[in-house]
Amino acid sequence: MNAATLHDAWIAFAKPRIQARARSNRISSLGYRCVRRLVWDRLIGDLRPALPPEKAGIFAEGDLHEQAARRQMSSMGIDLIHVQREVVGPHNITGHIDGVIRDEDGEIVAEIKSVHPALWEKHRTLDDMLASSSPWIAAYPTQLCLYEYGVGTDRGVFVLRNKGTGQLRFVDCPRDENLVRASIDRAAYVEGWIGKLLPVLAPDRDRLHAFSVLAPEDWPTATPDAACQYCDYRGWACDLAALGREGGVSMLEDAELLEAAETMRRTAEAAGEHDRAKARLAEAMKARGPGVHFAGPVCGKVVSYTTTKHDIPADIKAQFARKESALRVTMSMEE
Ligand code: SF4
Repeated sequence: MNAATLHDAWIAFAKPRIQARARSNRISSLGYRCVRRLVWDRLIGDLRPALPPEKAGIFAEGDLHEQAARRQMSSMGIDLIHVQREVVGPHNITGHIDGVIRDEDGEIVAEIKSVHPALWEKHRTLDDMLASSSPWIAAYPTQLCLYEYGVGTDRGVFVLRNKGTGQLRFVDCPRDENLVRASIDRAAYVEGWIGKLLPVLAPDRDRLHAFSVLAPEDWPTATPDAACQYCDYRGWACDLAALGREGGVSMLEDAELLEAAETMRRTAEAAGEHDRAKARLAEAMKARGPGVHFAGPVCGKVVSYTTTKHDIPADIKAQFARKESALRVTMSMEE
């Protein structure tokens, strides 16, 4: 045995993962903003290409992290019960919980998530998760609240495991009835579409036929976001270019641009910290007036200068106004 044979064995282990068509509305997906994707899962999920080994490996890695978190908790004296118990809800909602912690006050549903170190640092509270720019993390509270609903408790806790260091963070997630209600409504919406499309899904018909019976704008609501990047329906079932406002939606996939985006993501927190510190020092130096001011390694020069302002009456200004077209770029971080 050598490195090459071991590599072959790994490839055989992490073989392409066949994707299935969802038979129910999966609780783990109901928090996604794009309901079109949920309809596709039910309708044509099995027509998606198999996940290549490197992507299938991400799921396998997630399972290993979950097992590790369970072992860590067990060593802390907290054993999960009802591991992988099925929960069901209205409108064909189903899911499997990671486990339940039982204490003197009843049951707490535990949901284990392994999280990238930078995101683990950033998501410390339930509010951080709810407001997350990551569509995946923002969907977690919906998932857990639905599990609580299915189990019949109003208590839940996230076990966030730092993928880099193995640290655990626990975040309380009490059942939020608004989230539960909104998800059940979303499941009803998906179920409605499946009912509508079943007649055109006769076994002898190509299921892609379902696409051709309606105009693209009549398809279930699509909400493009960063999750589109990894959406298995992009490009064949879902035409992003046809979505959105002026110009549609596109994904830039040039390696250099993706690297620039990664640099932005990596440095975003430090850049924000840098700007806040700079503004604080600038304010303090300005308050001391013109001169040279040192704060540790930072040297600031404050000089006075004059600017010219023109108070032009509005009616005269309007005579010289003209409109020019330009493009404005606004960016947000969608990890
Ligand atoms: S590509 Fe984006 S908009 Fe289209 S179904 Fe997938 S997540 Fe929704």
